[in-house]
Amino acid sequence: MVTHAHLDHCGYLPRLVRHGFRGRIVTTEFTARLMEIVLRDSAKLQNEAAGHILGSSWAALTLEDGAVLAVSGDLGRPGHPLLRPPEPFSGADVLLMESTYGNRRHEEQAGRAHFADVVTRTLARGGTVVIPSFALDRTEVVLHELTQLRRTGRLPAAVPVYVDSPMALAALDVYRDALVMRAPELRPEVLAEGPAALSPEPFRAVRSLQESVELGHAGGPAVIVSASGMATGGRVLHHLRRVLPDPRNAVVVVGFAAVGTRARDLVDGARVLKMFGEYVPVRCQVADVPHFSAHADAAQILDWLRGAPAPHVTYLVHGEPEASAALRERIDRTLGWTAVVPRSGERVLVR
Ligand SMILES: [Zn+2]
Repeated sequence: MVTHAHLDHCGYLPRLVRHGFRGRIVTTEFTARLMEIVLRDSAKLQNEAAGHILGSSWAALTLEDGAVLAVSGDLGRPGHPLLRPPEPFSGADVLLMESTYGNRRHEEQAGRAHFADVVTRTLARGGTVVIPSFALDRTEVVLHELTQLRRTGRLPAAVPVYVDSPMALAALDVYRDALVMRAPELRPEVLAEGPAALSPEPFRAVRSLQESVELGHAGGPAVIVSASGMATGGRVLHHLRRVLPDPRNAVVVVGFAAVGTRARDLVDGARVLKMFGEYVPVRCQVADVPHFSAHADAAQILDWLRGAPAPHVTYLVHGEPEASAALRERIDRTLGWTAVVPRSGERVLVR
């Protein structure tokens, strides 16, 4: 069972098959399509670690002895601007619960206002906005936000929006297809708009490397959305090298930034950033908008769990240690459930 197409959830499939697995792989239609894009790209090993995205699901597996094992996958936030909220948890004997934001609270409205503010001010002073973005979902959420800003005039009509990432553009095609097919997991108000919901015209898809390089020489105010989201690699590095030293510009980090990545260094206030073997000074504005993350925060996870009967054990997985520990504590205290942060490699019985 594959809950969604992020590389940290499907990246081992080729190895599994190489090692002789011949069973069925169960997933949703849009996860299958997005996985094709992600696995083809994975030779280049992009770090795509966060988010609830198109095609996502949580799974309840009934094992041969009748025990039910549920897997949350990555839990989406109920306020996702494009996707309907995840279906509520309905119970299991054992639950594996993700905990990426187990110690955090999203301020969604404040986050959107901050994003709009940074974009507007940067463009007004003649700067360029670079948004390192995960190729799957985050790019679509950002485009949706920019579309709204364009409509209200906060994003001036003369400023082009570029998406510079072949993988993001391939994923965008799948989202557009979902809109055309009126996929039921999309919000009704987004379906009513159709593909226009993701098109902040003038909008340019940058496909070839040559176009990407030329974009760097274009000059003038612009918004550039480019992968990878944590600036661990990809075309965004070339854009960062160009925009970081100039105080007119802004870099907006719109999702989860893991420890040890350039995106985290930026939001932590690094004054220099190493890339291509050299140190680049950071003099532009750096804005942190983690509220665009597709992961539920701690309170939203609790809300998702609340209506279900208590599993025998809930294991907190998929989080940095402080986040998992905080969520364990909160589930214990608020719901009275038995919750455990397992050690890597630990074996337990499911029943
Ligand atoms: Zn994910």
